[in-house]
This record gives sequence, structure tokens and C-alpha cells, in this order.
Amino acid sequence: MKYISTRGESPPLGFVDTLLAGLAPDGGLYCPEAWPIVSPEDIEAFADRPYAEVAADILGRFVGGEIPSEVLVRLCADAYASFDHPAVTPLVQLGPNRFLLELFHGPTLAFKDVAMQILARLYAHVLARSGRTMTIVCATSGDTGGAAVEAFAGLDHVRIVAMFPEGRISEVQRRFMTTTNAANVRSVSVDGDFDDCQAILKSLFQDESFAGAVNLSAVNSINFARIIAQSVYFFTAAAALGAPGRSMRFVVPTGNFGDAFAGYAARLMGLPIDGITVATNANDIMARALTSGDYRRGPATATQSPAMDIQVASNFERLYFECAGRDAGATAGAFRAFAAEGAIVLPSAVLAAMAEVFDAVAVSETRTAQTIADTFSRTGEMIDPHTAVAVAGAQNVRPHPGNQPLIVISTAHPAKFPDAVGAAVGTVPPPPSAVRARANLAERIDRLPANAEAVKRYVHDFAAS
Ligand SMILES: *Cc1c(COP(=O)(O)O)cnc(C)c1O
Repeated sequence: MKYISTRGESPPLGFVDTLLAGLAPDGGLYCPEAWPIVSPEDIEAFADRPYAEVAADILGRFVGGEIPSEVLVRLCADAYASFDHPAVTPLVQLGPNRFLLELFHGPTLAFKDVAMQILARLYAHVLARSGRTMTIVCATSGDTGGAAVEAFAGLDHVRIVAMFPEGRISEVQRRFMTTTNAANVRSVSVDGDFDDCQAILKSLFQDESFAGAVNLSAVNSINFARIIAQSVYFFTAAAALGAPGRSMRFVVPTGNFGDAFAGYAARLMGLPIDGITVATNANDIMARALTSGDYRRGPATATQSPAMDIQVASNFERLYFECAGRDAGATAGAFRAFAAEGAIVLPSAVLAAMAEVFDAVAVSETRTAQTIADTFSRTGEMIDPHTAVAVAGAQNVRPHPGNQPLIVISTAHPAKFPDAVGAAVGTVPPPPSAVRARANLAERIDRLPANAEAVKRYVHDFAAS
């Protein structure tokens, strides 16, 4: 299996090179040359198989023989043993034909663990084979950094620097990054905001001699392996509820569009998904794009669901590419114009192809809080603010003949956001053991100015140590 860039100007790569590359050199995102098809018989059989086996099966179709299948099976078993539920991503019923798909049973209580746990093991395996050591620098607004530190801590051949904005993340989020004492991890508090952290990361990659000297790599959601790891739970949830005999609808709380695109990928692989509703908070670029065809950057607003406070949904480029009939020239033109002008007006054929699968809704802060309270009083389930955006969005799902199950993706444990949940339901969710265990551990934090040269010196010294 080869991977091509959405902009068509980079040479195709195999799976391992795609895993380690992140962004393509032409600025595009990697996609498979052709999507493998999962047969109805295989989908039906997923209902009886452990999550880790389904993950190894789906990933195996993309690895194309570059990693032996028995190794993949072992890495997946190991990755998903770190979850605290035997189903890994369990379904919880909210009402007639309406379910939550809980993705927060991993070590850092957010859905980023599902992909990061296997991604780290894939890195460790392929780097051990080549003898190379890489340096991952991760800019985080909260959840990705913790999930990455937890997954990569203690692994050979890879070191990780998690860079977060000073004072702008919650204590629970920070402690997942700062209380490990693994020698291959550093956490850095930058005297600036998340945009400064991202800009620094970008300039690290643009300095080719620096990037080459430390073997720089990135694990944000443009990494194609993350998308595939996330498509697995669309299969397991749908199979548990009767796919391929019944089709499903999903509602996905959306920021960078990684999770929603993973659902679209599952559909391209043959999973019978009738529709995907994209639910955003006030940062509604995806909701506006999918309803009006105008993909236009707006001002970023701070909300109760900070992991979705994003104005540029990186993975949207993958959807555009697929919905433009895989026209790489058109995709390159559209996204270069977006970088320059901050807007793409979607051609009507592209918008129509998107609307065959997606609808979208933006949910206000008030409605998010009400939804946390209503869900608790009706079902006894405490949901976090990101999940609440999707549960609220589920009210807007367009009417459809038939009675397909509606599966709402639940992306974080409510204890990660005790302030918002406590304000809505009147009691604070009890802290799970992963949070309690870190409450009294010493933190190691290195503080740096919001300055790319300072970060480069720091990463360079760490890589040489
Ligand atoms: C990252 C994240 C999201 C958004 O997912 P995307 O793939 O970026 O759309 C939603 N909820 C939580 C809790 C997250 O951490």
C-alpha cells in the first residue's frame, strides 16, 4: 500500500515512512492510494472479536506487509490492555436507539489515547528496527500532550517534548505531562498562548538543519496512522449494534476534524454509515463550511470545550480531496488559497459530495451546559462538555426513514472538566484513580520564553543528552 499527498506533488511513500513523516513535503496530507474494502462478512465477525484484534485487522490492511502481522497483533494487544474497560470503547445507552460511544477509558481519560497508545508502539517498533532515534515535539492545548507523554514515556529510540502554554491548561491536564519521571520525556511551559506554541513547532520543522540534527517528528492528527486507529471504533460500535445488517448514524464533537474524518474513512472502507453529524462549539468553521459551502477562518473563542477551540480544521483537506474526486491539483489550489486568504468557497459538486454524508450544527455555551444537566437528570450519566456538544447536536440530526441506531461519540471523562460539569449538575465527578495517583506527585516543568531559538537550543541539548 502506498500513500499519496492530497496536493499531488510529493512522491508516494510506504506505511512506515508515512507514519514517521506527518505532513507531506508539498504541504499536503497523506491518504492511501486506494481504500481497502472490509467485506460484510468481516464486519459481522467484528462483533465477536476483542477490540485489539479488530484494530490489528484494520491496521493490517494499511501496513501492507511492512510490519509482520503477528507483531501488529502483539502491539495492539499491548496498547489496548492499557484501557480500564474490557470493551476498550464501550457503548452506553441514552434512550431508544440512542447510544454514547465512550472513548475515554484510556490512561489520560480522553479519546486521544485510542490512537496515541498504538502510535507510540508502532514508532518504537519501526525505530528499533532501523536503530534510529527520533525527537517528537508536540504543541498541545491540553489533551494531546498528556496522551502523547503517557504513550511514549519509557520507550526506546524516541524522546518527546510536550510544549504547553503557561497557565492555560487545567491542573489535571498538566499533571498528565509533568509527573512522569521517564528519562525520555520533557514538559515545557511556554510563556505564551497555544498559537505561539504551534508557531514555534512550525518554525522548528522549517529549520531543516535543526529538524535533521534531532530527527524531528510530530504526532498531531495530520498523522495518517492516527486516522486509521480512530476508524476502528466506528467498526466495533456499528458491528455491536447490528452492522452490516443495519446501517448507523454518528454524531461527532469536532475540532480538527480528525475523528469525523475517521468515520468517513470507515464508510469508504464499506461500513454502512448513513450519515455523520459534525457538532462544533462556537468555533464553528466546520459547521459553517458544511451548511453554507463557505470554509472561512473566524476569530477563535474560548469555550467550556477547549479541545475544540480550533479555527482551522487540518483534516478537512482530506475530505476535500476525496469529495473533489481525488483531484490533487484542485485540492492544492484550494488550500494554498486558504493559507493566503483564510477562505475557500466550496465548488457546488464538492459541497454536494460532502452533504451526501455530513450535516453539521454549532452548539452554544448555554445549550452545552443545559445538555450536561439534562443528560444527568434523565439518565444519571455525567458527560463532559465536549460530549455535551455532540449530545446537543444529536437533536438536530435530519429526519431519516428507518430506525438506524444513533451513536454519539463521547470524547473525554467528565472528571477532566470538573468545573463545567460541577456547575451544570451540582456535584463534581469523583476523580478516577489516574487523576488521584498524580495529585501529589512532584512535577517537572521547564519554563521557556515564547521564542523558537530558545526552544531549539533546549530540544538540541535534550537530544544530545
Ligand atoms: C481532540 C478532541 C476533540 C476533537 O477531535 P478532532 O479530531 O480534533 O475533531 C473533541 N473532544 C476532545 C475531548 C478532544 O480531546
